[in-house]
Amino acid sequence: MRMSAAVLIDEYGVIVEASDAFSELVGLHRATGRRYRDLLSEGMRRRWNPLCKDDLSRSEKIEEHFFFNGSTAMIRFTLIELPGRGPTFQGIVLGFGRSEQRTESGHSSRTDLSGDSLAPATAATIACLNTRIDQLEQQLESSIDELYIDPLTGLKNKAGLNRRIQSEILSSVPEGMRLALVVADIDNFKTVNHIHGYPAGDRLLRTVGRRLQAPGSVVCVARIGGDKFGLLVRLDGATGSLDGGWDKILSRIFKPVTVRGVLVGISGSAGVSVYGADAYDADDLFANADAALLEARRLGKRRAQIFDTKLAARTRRRKVLFRDLKLAIAEGLLHPVYQPILSTSRPGFVGVEVLSRWVHHEFGSVPPDEFISIAAECGLMYSLDLGMAATACAELHDLLATGALKFVAFNLSPLQLSHQEYVDALLSILHAADIAPDRVCVEVTENELIPNFEAAKQSIQTLKAAGITIVLDDYGTGYSNLRTLLDLPIDVIKIDKSLIFNVAKEERAMQVVLSVVHLARVLGAQLVAEGIESNAQAVVTKALGCHYVQGFLFSKPMRLSGLEEWLRQNAKAVHGRIQSPDSRQNGQFKLVS
Ligand code: C2E
Ligand code: CA
Ligand code: CA
Repeated sequence: MRMSAAVLIDEYGVIVEASDAFSELVGLHRATGRRYRDLLSEGMRRRWNPLCKDDLSRSEKIEEHFFFNGSTAMIRFTLIELPGRGPTFQGIVLGFGRSEQRTESGHSSRTDLSGDSLAPATAATIACLNTRIDQLEQQLESSIDELYIDPLTGLKNKAGLNRRIQSEILSSVPEGMRLALVVADIDNFKTVNHIHGYPAGDRLLRTVGRRLQAPGSVVCVARIGGDKFGLLVRLDGATGSLDGGWDKILSRIFKPVTVRGVLVGISGSAGVSVYGADAYDADDLFANADAALLEARRLGKRRAQIFDTKLAARTRRRKVLFRDLKLAIAEGLLHPVYQPILSTSRPGFVGVEVLSRWVHHEFGSVPPDEFISIAAECGLMYSLDLGMAATACAELHDLLATGALKFVAFNLSPLQLSHQEYVDALLSILHAADIAPDRVCVEVTENELIPNFEAAKQSIQTLKAAGITIVLDDYGTGYSNLRTLLDLPIDVIKIDKSLIFNVAKEERAMQVVLSVVHLARVLGAQLVAEGIESNAQAVVTKALGCHYVQGFLFSKPMRLSGLEEWLRQNAKAVHGRIQSPDSRQNGQFKLVS
C-alpha cells in the first residue's frame, strides 16, 4: 500500500471517512458511506462484536479483521471526538495480509476466513512490519491532524486541544506536573466585526492566535470556537501557580491591534481550570474553565477568573435547577403569590399581580429572576406562564366573582408573545375558569418586546380585542421607546421601581416621573407606580398623578389565604375614613383619596 490505511466509523457503524489505502485494502473503489460490518467476511460478520463506546472510552482495542474480499488486517481502534460529529471510532491498520488471491472484480463475497490466516512471522518480517507500522502511523498522524486544525488561524481546534489534553494528562501526571486550561475570549468581538467588517475580524483572530503562541509554559494553543481560544499551560510544580500570573497572559495577548490602518484597543476575559485541583479529566477542565469565563464576564470582563469552590457551588446549583425546573413546572410545584395593586382615588378598588414562586427541595426559595431566566433558556416559559395563569384563575375565581378583587394582572413572557397559540391558550384558560377578560390585565416588559415587534403587536391586539387591559411593565428601565408606546394599544404604563426609589428624595427622579405622567396623559394611558416602600413615595406618586400604587408598603406578595385575610382587613380600612398618608393604624397604610 502506498499510504496509510485508516478508517473512521460513526457510532451507528457507518464509515464516515476511509483513506484510499483502506478502500483498496477491502477491495472497493470507495468505502465511505458503507456499513463497516458489510465489509467483513461472512463468518466474521456473524461473530464480530461491534465497536462499543464504553469499551473504548478509556483504552484502545486491537483486533484482527477479515474482509469479504479476502484481505486481513490488524487494526487499532480508538474512540475520538470529531467536531460536529460526536463519538467516532478511528481504525488504524497496523499490518495487513491476504489469506487468498483477490477475485477478478475484487468485490466478490468470500468464504469465511478463520483466525489463523496471518502467516507465522520471521524476525526479518517482524522488523520490516514494525518499520512499516512506524511509517504508517506517522503518515496517519499527519492526515488525521488535519481534522484537528482550525483553518482560519492554523491553530488546533477544540478536538485537537482535547486530544492534546488527554495525552498531556497521561504523560505529565506521573511526573507531578500541574496543568491548567485557560479559555479566553475577546470582549465585544462582535462590535469589531460590525464596525470594521468580517475580514478585519478574521485578521484580529489570527493576530490574537499568534500572540497566544508564546514559548515557555504554554503547551498548546487552540481556537475552540468563534472568538474563543483555549490554552493548555504548565504550572509551577511547587506553587501550582502560573509564572508571572494570569493577568500577564491577558495583557500580553489583548494589546491594541491595527485594523485597516487604525489602532484598535482590545481586551479579553479568561476562565481557568486546574487539573488535579478542580478537574480530573478534559471534559471537566472545559466545563469549569467555561464557567469561570462566564464569571469573569459577569464581573465586568477584562480579567482572568480561576474556578473556585464558590463558582463550583454556583455552577452546580444552576445545573441542578436546569435539571429540576421542567419537572417542577410539569408537576405543579411552582405556586402563585399575589401582590395587591391599589387605586389611589377609589378606596377598596384593589387588584393583584400574579407572581410565581418556586421552593426547591435542596435550595429552598429560588428567586424568580433566576428561575425565569432558566425557563426562558430552556423554552419553558410557555408552560410556566400558562400553568401559573390556570392555577391563579382557579384560586382567584371567587374573589373576582364577589367583587372583593377587581382585577388580576398576569406577567407574560415577551418572547412568547410572538406565538399566537400562547395568546389563544391564555384566552382558553380564562374562558374555562369563567373569568371575564375585562377583569384581566397582562403585563408585558418593553425592552424584550422590541425584537419580535410585529408578531408581538399582533398578539397584543388580539388580547386587547378580547377585552384584556394591556400594561407596559418596567417602564423607564433604559429601553423606553416612544415607538412602542405609539404603536401598541397600551392602556396602562407601570413605572419601574428603580424610578420610584428616589422619587421622594431627588428632584431629577421626580421630574422623570412627571414626564412619564405627561406622556401617559397624551396617550390616554393610566399609570401604576410599583415598588412603593415608604409613605413619602406613596404621597409623591399620588400627587404626581399615578392612578395605582403597588409595593411592600401595602403588602408583600402573598399566597391565597394571606390575600383573603389582607382583603378582609384592608377593605374595612380603606372604605373607612381616608386618612393622611402619614397615619398608620395597626401597621396598615391608608391612601388619601
Ligand atoms: P415584575 O413584574 O417587575 O414584578 C415586580 C417585582 O417587584 C416582584 O419581584 C415583586 O416581588 C417586587 N416588588 C414588589 N413590591 C416591591 C417593593 O416595594 N420593593 C421592591 N424592592 N420590590 C418589590 P419578584 O416576585 O421577585 O419577580 C421578579 C420578576 O420576575 C417580575 O418582575 C417578573 O418580571 C418576573 N416574574 C415573576 N413571576 C413571573 C411569571 O409567572 N411569569 C413571568 N413571565 N414573569 C414572572
Ligand atoms: Ca410585572
Ligand atoms: Ca415591574
